[in-house]
Amino acid sequence: MIPYKHEPFTDFSKEENNIAYLEALKKVEGYLGEEYPLIIGGERITTNEQIISYNPANKEEVIGSVSKASKELAEKAMQIADETFHTWKKVKPEIRADVLFKAAAIIRRRKHEISALLTKEAGKPWNEADADTAEAIDFLEYYGRQMLRLKDGQPVESRPGEFNRYDYIPLGVGVVISPWNFPFAIMAGTTVAAVVTGNTVLLKPASTTPVVAYKFVEILEEAGLPAGVVNYIPGSGAEVGDYLVDHPKTRFISFTGSRDVGLRINERASKLNDGQIWLKRVIAEMGGKDTIVVDKEADLELAAQSIVKSAFGFSGQKCSACSRAVIVEDVYDEVITRVEELTKGLTVGDPTDLSNFTGPVIDAAAFEKITSYIEIGKEEGRIVAGGTADNSKGFFVNPTVIVDVTPEARVMKEEIFGPVVAIAKAKDFDEALAIANNTEYGLTGAVITKNRMNQEKAREDFHVGNLYFNRGCTGAIVGYQPFGGFNMSGTDSKAGGPDYLQLHMQAKTTSETL
Ligand code: GLU
Repeated sequence: MIPYKHEPFTDFSKEENNIAYLEALKKVEGYLGEEYPLIIGGERITTNEQIISYNPANKEEVIGSVSKASKELAEKAMQIADETFHTWKKVKPEIRADVLFKAAAIIRRRKHEISALLTKEAGKPWNEADADTAEAIDFLEYYGRQMLRLKDGQPVESRPGEFNRYDYIPLGVGVVISPWNFPFAIMAGTTVAAVVTGNTVLLKPASTTPVVAYKFVEILEEAGLPAGVVNYIPGSGAEVGDYLVDHPKTRFISFTGSRDVGLRINERASKLNDGQIWLKRVIAEMGGKDTIVVDKEADLELAAQSIVKSAFGFSGQKCSACSRAVIVEDVYDEVITRVEELTKGLTVGDPTDLSNFTGPVIDAAAFEKITSYIEIGKEEGRIVAGGTADNSKGFFVNPTVIVDVTPEARVMKEEIFGPVVAIAKAKDFDEALAIANNTEYGLTGAVITKNRMNQEKAREDFHVGNLYFNRGCTGAIVGYQPFGGFNMSGTDSKAGGPDYLQLHMQAKTTSETL
């Protein structure tokens, strides 16, 4: 087997790639507005109530119209997933892994089409969409290989006259609730981690990006996944989400999304319901308030570039995004001046146009939330770039830099999930680190320093799940930087890492006297 290696990103400065992407956009434009049914046990079910997916860069443009699951249909999907579990769990891990490898190959062939759909449905610029698709391929390739490693369990000792084994067995039906910000990668990764380990899945994708998830379920079918292993049931969180989280047959929930929804799921999942005979497991990836710390002994150009790229890539709509920077006072003015310059040079507009650095935010609610935080930022600090927004055609917010804020400011503590970065001054590195830790989250962080001792101090004391030195704080790669955070950022699941699949299985010890 070829060793795992991450899928390379596309170089769009090459003419042929540029042309291929434009063609892919045309292809996607050719199927905009189509209808998509639910998929339950392989059966296509169309409902009267529909979820309409819009292009966030152009509110008039419908990406697709997707059937919406009711409680009754969610129940039907649960029954089928529960039945299918009894056959799927018996399928050899090698065969389950092969389905993932085949799906990866199909996606690789249709890579630009999927990315172009992400550009349209999620408003992702080309490079961000390309990275999203590449990450999905990575999850398939990586988890497939991980399953092959874990299929015979782990070694344990045996005394003379004894034969002990330690094996992993699947859990049961998993409810996968996936986010809109990595609507392909995280949706696919969380789904296939559950599938390859022998579980069956009820997939409830984010309501703003359901079409790309439908395409993925079709790809899994083409790759040979039996009917009923993954059931596609978009629907409302309050109706279908709660119903399935509460369901006595739900064995685990794999959720990526906001802190508040994560807490709600965790709380509901902890309650024993009639007929339930287990403790539900919750895998939750929630928010972040991620900080880049800039030391006085540092490459200041690198610092400014890292802040801008991590804060404004995909309009800051990543839980890993740099939403605050803390800069040691000796270099504060120099760094903020450069951040201001770089930010003012960014172009915002339709993401189908390669020349735009970033596109819209996801929807009207996000636009309202982000712009209200910009108003708060005006009170709490000084806006040196951006601060403006336009929702006449799509939901565009200009990259915004708020400087001179105090560590206790709301824009320094609350997750905004948009293109807004708050910057505070610290008197020295220790204080900078203390401010960086002054949040309930603990997802990513970065330290820009040339001082080895300060770097090592941060390695120990900067309390985040993913810490980066002398680079930005986004862009974890599957198999290279396993991803997940501390505290209110979630259960530190470390997606794309060596311990991730085990979260979807239970270990069984068998001991035989010889
Ligand atoms: N894994 C992504 C990164 O490292 C972020 C995932 C997310 O925002 O949910 O940038």
